Amino acid sequence: MRAPFRKSFAGPFGRSDAASIVSRTMKVILPDDCELDLADGASGLDAANAIGPRLAEQAVLVRLDSGEVRDLREPLDDGARIQILTTRDTSDPDALAVLRHSSAHLLAEAAQRLFPGTKVAIGPPIDDGFYYDFEFPEPLTEGDLERLEGEVKREIEEGRTFRRCEIERDEARERFAAEGEPYKVELVDTAEGRITLYEQGDFVDLCRGPHLQNAAPIKAFKLTSLAGAYWRGNSDNAQLTRVYGTAFFSKKDLDAHVERLEQAKLRDHRRLGKQLDLFHFAEVSPGSPFWHPKGMVIWNVLEDLRRAENARRGYEEVRTPLIYDVDVWKTSGHWDNYRDKMYFFDTEAREYGLKPMNCPGHCFVFSDQLRSYRELPMRLGEAGLVHRHEASGVLHGLLRVRHITQDDAHIFCTHEQTEDEVLGCLDYAFFLYELFDFPVHAELSTRPEKRIGIDEEWDMAEGALRGALERQGLEYAVSEGDGAFYGPKIDLHVTDALERSWQLGTIQLDLQMPERFGLTYVGSDNAEHTPVMIHRALLGSLERFIGIVLEHTGGDLPTWIAPVQARVIPVAEAHRAGAEALQQELVASGVRADFDTSTDTLGKRIRGAEMERVPFVLVYGDKEADGDVLSVRERGKGVQEQTRAVAFELIQSAAKL
Ligand SMILES: [Zn+2]
Ligand SMILES: [Zn+2]
Repeated sequence: MRAPFRKSFAGPFGRSDAASIVSRTMKVILPDDCELDLADGASGLDAANAIGPRLAEQAVLVRLDSGEVRDLREPLDDGARIQILTTRDTSDPDALAVLRHSSAHLLAEAAQRLFPGTKVAIGPPIDDGFYYDFEFPEPLTEGDLERLEGEVKREIEEGRTFRRCEIERDEARERFAAEGEPYKVELVDTAEGRITLYEQGDFVDLCRGPHLQNAAPIKAFKLTSLAGAYWRGNSDNAQLTRVYGTAFFSKKDLDAHVERLEQAKLRDHRRLGKQLDLFHFAEVSPGSPFWHPKGMVIWNVLEDLRRAENARRGYEEVRTPLIYDVDVWKTSGHWDNYRDKMYFFDTEAREYGLKPMNCPGHCFVFSDQLRSYRELPMRLGEAGLVHRHEASGVLHGLLRVRHITQDDAHIFCTHEQTEDEVLGCLDYAFFLYELFDFPVHAELSTRPEKRIGIDEEWDMAEGALRGALERQGLEYAVSEGDGAFYGPKIDLHVTDALERSWQLGTIQLDLQMPERFGLTYVGSDNAEHTPVMIHRALLGSLERFIGIVLEHTGGDLPTWIAPVQARVIPVAEAHRAGAEALQQELVASGVRADFDTSTDTLGKRIRGAEMERVPFVLVYGDKEADGDVLSVRERGKGVQEQTRAVAFELIQSAAKL
């Protein structure tokens, strides 16, 4: 039995008691700009009560104007702008986080009750849920998850109140040491600021909060999986068991979440890569895909698109080396700022680095000749292969690789041309994203605290980016201080079919690298000037882009990029020659068509084509052999009979971009 919790938790609830604080008052400002007068030292809960008892009952959290969140029982600051989040804010990330963190505490309570001797470590909320790390006396099985989940549900039904108190560090240390909780003792020693405890049921946790008032808002709770985890993420430390779970304000939200996870599993690009025979990964080269013939078709269609559009938009194609003397990386700043993501090696007593970015290569192309303002803007494009060291643990199929092929370009231009060039990049990016029906949102990242260059340059650079965004008619978010140390940038994010957001494009202004590499051009005034450099990649990397498109489409790639656009299936052996002639006719007309030569039943071959997501399937039998008719099975649309001419027209127009 754990010692009863003796410290008084009553404190914060009495704060607004007028008897104890005679005359002083404070005020807070609500989201509708109304001012609320409160007794000095009032908490968020006091504020909620002053508005109405129903709001107080539903309140889960206080959010300050700065975005900081606060437990309802903590005192507010005089004059603060506050927002009280309630059980109605069912999709607010902060409201969900406090719900889930509170759920994690319930899980810890259940774990110690069901498995006496269990030691608790940490249990934070994460995207989509929470986890808690435990040291169990015996290894946990999947079946135990169900018992734990049942116990937490019982706790919720029984009712739990979360209570908060501040405590002296020594007292906390003694308390957790006496309870045999070595991880908590360590956390007490390394915790910053005041030590606070939260208690519910017969569980007490060292915790900064915030927490719910009670467990009632947790309407849906689910444990999802088990994993191993080292204490403090260090493999020299004890191995703990991590229990993952999630919680929502309603059962409906949980059901939708479970459905999304199912969908995501079905759309996992690694699974589709195998099913559609596009690529594989192997231990001999971690983080580097092996592309199969069908995957390369997708790759090459994107490459052709990049080349054609680059040409149309005034880019010139270059190709630059992968390996550079290490001095190049010292000049570029990568040695100081990016070294731990790079690969270095010695040969003939000289040190080299594999390029993690294409920029220096393009600078050398620019500086090879004396440049005139008449040559600007100079837009140099390259499907640049770069290598970046990503830790083994974070590699994830095509979405996180070490071998990266960027649809990269660098634009060298004058200050006056900058805004137009950025606008051109935005237009290009939107053209590409629309091909895949991706909704886009833009984010402008401005000067960070740690930066190089003078303020006038930053004003110019940020002004050019803002100007281009506004001329493109885009609403955009501003991320203050998130720019690169050498310049501000626009990031372009797309939303996929499962409502997940991906950053694809980036357009960065750089006033520093041209200087570092001594780039100049002769202006109309006959003097030497330093050009502005714009780094931009729009699809990002081809590897990652293909991964995202596979998950977005669930493998149903648009016909123009599908590896096989049409498949001809002869009904019987007698139809083979005619079917093959039809396939060749399709190929000759520019359609990527193949021909099913297997001896499986007709039904099986049709299903096979469906599994491979072939957009058009043509079954070739007596009717097709004898007359001017084709039966076309279009993906997702069923079968239609058409004359040859109409069928060809249909397939050809879908096959072209
Ligand atoms: Zn906690
Ligand atoms: Zn670059």
